[in-house]
Amino acid sequence: MPDSLEEYIVIGAGLSGLAAATVLKRAGRPVLLLDKGRRAGGRMASRHFEQAHIDYGAQFFSVRDPEFRQFIDPLAESGRVTRWFERDGEIRYCSPAGMNSLPRQMADSLRIACEVTVNAVRRDQHRWRIETAGGEVYWCKAVVVTAPVPQALALVEIEPPAREELATIEYHRCLAILAVLAGDSSIPAPGFLRLAQEPLQTLSDNRQKGLGGHATGVTILASPAFSLQHWDTPQEEVARLLLAAAAPWLGSPVTHWRYHRWRYSQPVETFPAPCYGVEGDPPLVLAGDAFGGPRVEGAFLSGVAAARWLLAR
Ligand SMILES: Cc1cc2nc3c(=O)[nH]c(=O)nc-3n(C[C@H](O)[C@H](O)[C@H](O)COP(=O)(O)OP(=O)(O)OC[C@H]3O[C@@H](n4cnc5c(N)ncnc54)[C@H](O)[C@@H]3O)c2cc1C
Repeated sequence: MPDSLEEYIVIGAGLSGLAAATVLKRAGRPVLLLDKGRRAGGRMASRHFEQAHIDYGAQFFSVRDPEFRQFIDPLAESGRVTRWFERDGEIRYCSPAGMNSLPRQMADSLRIACEVTVNAVRRDQHRWRIETAGGEVYWCKAVVVTAPVPQALALVEIEPPAREELATIEYHRCLAILAVLAGDSSIPAPGFLRLAQEPLQTLSDNRQKGLGGHATGVTILASPAFSLQHWDTPQEEVARLLLAAAAPWLGSPVTHWRYHRWRYSQPVETFPAPCYGVEGDPPLVLAGDAFGGPRVEGAFLSGVAAARWLLAR
């Protein structure tokens, strides 16, 4: 509730924010998450439309770190996470209920306010004052900021030289087309292609992946170069170009499509630590995939590291 004093606030309910909040909660600390989106999940995004079920952010994830393995194993045992395919000796996991189902399940046991856009995070004596676009003010004793770094730096005052170092972190853009087909796609099993040919980056067949839906939904992700070049191109033109490029693998007519722009898709390079803590009273810590590694697992590990950094204060 705005105006009351919270112990911990986590800005951003993507995987890193949810992991941070889960660790804080397990340590017995009250925590509130704020997210500008309609629901938790950030870049682990899925949607249903026209009888198809489509992941349009992260397509899969791998598990390298034992701590992430500990988190994933029970989900895999209960069938909420499944193996999609194995490549280069590494298993790619996904969720048959859509990638967004994982963060949503984590959010179910946490206190979270969605559709709350944070505009500023300011020190006010020994508390943080968090101002929202809706004119509300939240107060807390410690804060975790998990928005992509350029957005985080717009919210929080961080002193040089750290500010300059953080400001060098850039992200690829990614234009996505979500296509619904009249029949099966001709993307070969297991339904995922990484294409080294412009303008495409990857193609995923969500039905082969196991997402269900009565219609086949294909996720077409454009390359970083195409996405940058066509960021402001009208969506009909982007769809025309990407659907034409993907045509050899679509196999059936496209009945419907949707378009999504990821301004911060994946960090080009990452910070050399799993989170960035700003010492002081009150403390603040930045987390997210730009710290833990440019993927789902990295986001999770960064959130865990950020919570531990705060708990050690
Ligand atoms: C198209 C695409 C494909 C990808 N493919 C893969 C893949 O195959 N495998 C893989 O491992 N990774 C993949 N990734 C990367 C992966 O999705 C991310 O690394 C991970 O989900 C990042 O989690 P996060 O918590 O760091 O950030 P996010 O998920 O971006 O969470 C940040 C949250 O902060 C919120 N927020 C931002 N600003 C504010 C504000 N001012 N006020 C309130 N809330 C705010 C946002 O709404 C968001 O929910 C992909 C990403 C994209 C976009």
